[in-house]
Amino acid sequence: MKLQSRAVETRSETRAAKLQGKRVGFVPTMGALHDGHISLVRAAKAQSDFVLASIFVNPTQFGPNEDLAKYPRTFEADRKKLEAEGVDLLFAPSVEEMYPDGAVTFVPVEGISDRLDGRSRPGHFRGVATVVAKLCHIAEPDVAFFGQKDAAQVAIIKRMVRDLMFPVEIVVVPIVREPDGLALSSRNAYLSPAERKQATVLSRALREVHAQYRSGERSAARLIEAARQVFASEPSVRLDYVEIVDRDTLESVSQVKAGTLVAVAAFVGSTRLIDNVVLT
Ligand code: AMP
Repeated sequence: MKLQSRAVETRSETRAAKLQGKRVGFVPTMGALHDGHISLVRAAKAQSDFVLASIFVNPTQFGPNEDLAKYPRTFEADRKKLEAEGVDLLFAPSVEEMYPDGAVTFVPVEGISDRLDGRSRPGHFRGVATVVAKLCHIAEPDVAFFGQKDAAQVAIIKRMVRDLMFPVEIVVVPIVREPDGLALSSRNAYLSPAERKQATVLSRALREVHAQYRSGERSAARLIEAARQVFASEPSVRLDYVEIVDRDTLESVSQVKAGTLVAVAAFVGSTRLIDNVVLT
């Protein structure tokens, strides 16, 4: 596996691969890699001939009071994991490489960026869309892989790619969970043992909603209430939101159907976790 930190060099590698007729697959990450990230890499290996992964903790998607400085950084372990998976190229740029002095151009995906996490974390999705746009311009991948874990991110990236006519296909990979249901997240590393147990309330609430949907409940208001009741059983966890939305527009719906997105965010101690389920 090659390791590069310069955009121009990464672009010449991916261009060379494409000239050889290879389909370039791209897996963007912020590092602190876990099995959720690895499932993206495996999907990329299965669906492309040349796999590029990136590790970049993107400052523009963190709010002023968020965890940018303490975000887990485990570069050496990450590098080994990617190498073991057969990744061809790892792009790990510096902040200065991605945001040269005086960079003032951003990509706001309007409206949709203010929903779900975008409402709780103003500016977050502007940062996400901007960095994904830059990474796609650098690497020019044929296909890019994103986790369903970040459902709002998926909706926003798909919209950006469509609106700005990026020549890239977006593949969404299912959520990888711990055996007790907790969705894998780099931020799970912040949880104390007691918080780790409380954190299952997110997936328990989603399971309850899904079970009620499968028993015939179609009212979003009643399903939200069912989720809130599960959260009420874990009073140390502070619910940020539970919302039931169209998975493409992220607009609230009053009646649910197959394909509707149920998304939750909650603070377990000081750690903010998210999870979601698409009703089937
Ligand atoms: P991050 O490093 O948190 O920016 O995540 C990089 C990519 O991994 C994003 O597309 C995430 O949606 C995806 N991802 C993170 N956690 C999971 C998970 N538990 N299952 C599947 N994909 C995930």
